Amino acid sequence: MSSPSSPLLSPPAMPSDLCEQAPAYVRAIAPYQPGKPISELAREYGLQEASIVKLASNENPLGLSGAARAAIERELADLARYPDGNQFDLKSAISHRTGWPVEGIIIGNGSNDLLEMAAAAVLAPGRACVFSQHAFAVYPLATQARGAESIVVPAREFAHDLPAMARAVTPATRLMFVANPNNPTGTFAPAAAIETLLSSVPDNVLVVLDEAYNEYLPAECRYDATRWLGRHANLIIVRTFSKVYGLAGLRVGYALMHPQVADLINRVRQPFNVNSLALAAALAALGDSAFIERSYALNRAGMAQLEAGFRELSLNWIPSFANFVSVLIPRREGKPQAMVVFERLLRRGVIVRPVAGYQMPDHLRISIGLPEENARFLVALRESLA
Ligand SMILES: *Cc1c(COP(=O)(O)O)cnc(C)c1O
Repeated sequence: MSSPSSPLLSPPAMPSDLCEQAPAYVRAIAPYQPGKPISELAREYGLQEASIVKLASNENPLGLSGAARAAIERELADLARYPDGNQFDLKSAISHRTGWPVEGIIIGNGSNDLLEMAAAAVLAPGRACVFSQHAFAVYPLATQARGAESIVVPAREFAHDLPAMARAVTPATRLMFVANPNNPTGTFAPAAAIETLLSSVPDNVLVVLDEAYNEYLPAECRYDATRWLGRHANLIIVRTFSKVYGLAGLRVGYALMHPQVADLINRVRQPFNVNSLALAAALAALGDSAFIERSYALNRAGMAQLEAGFRELSLNWIPSFANFVSVLIPRREGKPQAMVVFERLLRRGVIVRPVAGYQMPDHLRISIGLPEENARFLVALRESLA
């Protein structure tokens, strides 16, 4: 690894009002804190990259499907061309799979892009967005970037309190984010509870149902949100190829909504927001159901492995319906230990995710890895708690 050399050029003195003139709500944004990359830990601690286990970003430990890899290789030949700005092939495949018309489908540069577009389309200063405490960090970011107010509804045992979220809607509210399952808690609301929410929210409020971890739900919890699209013109279902489909690095997700809502949201979409490799890989990944099943099974087994390990260490955790689990690190003399344990895990080459920024200062979030990665984590955790 090369280290950065000293730059030849240096920035000028900053005029005092250049950055200060940005709207106060932009200056107040606390940027998203991603999981620590493997290369960074290797650099900082002098570790071999190959020896590092990263269980910090809910990525698919199997990598990407062979079909997606082959599609990427085929697409390489055409990279000098702009991608299809209408994203026709991928939208058609999603339409075919979901039964929802192409006109009501938008592809995003990751589902993060779709969450941002929904916010950009309807939020502004003086307007408000409702979401839960401990919900995905992008919701407050997307809201704040438009100068809108965040109405954060207290969670119940870490889960969304959906009736309270419905009651929290004000006349200024234009948007609501619901993550099901939620990250970083892994909590899940059954279909009936979401249906009740949709019936109780005024129809001028867009409800974004974020199903990033949908495919990890056990059979008895599965539901098909697309059937609600026929009844609720204000519903937007957002899904991603970053998690079970194993394409996090390519950035691609999709959203289903009323065609007129799609027409509105398309106005804030960049013309070529999703690159050609991502479009081709997502199309191939969508068809590789064997890979999805394998990933699902691996995740269930890994979750059981971690839960058994936590039990052995007498640790409590938040029961999770996704591909990660948040474990409670006991305090010492009243002081939170999660960051101490996080640092000790890093020294042992294991990257997990602190969630203090989610008002969970006593938890660490662990993404389910391969069996040997989970085992390495559990050994390192035992040593780190000692
Ligand atoms: C990971 C995640 C996403 C997806 O992010 P991408 O931008 O698609 O990679 C969306 N919502 C939640 C709740 C997530 O955890």
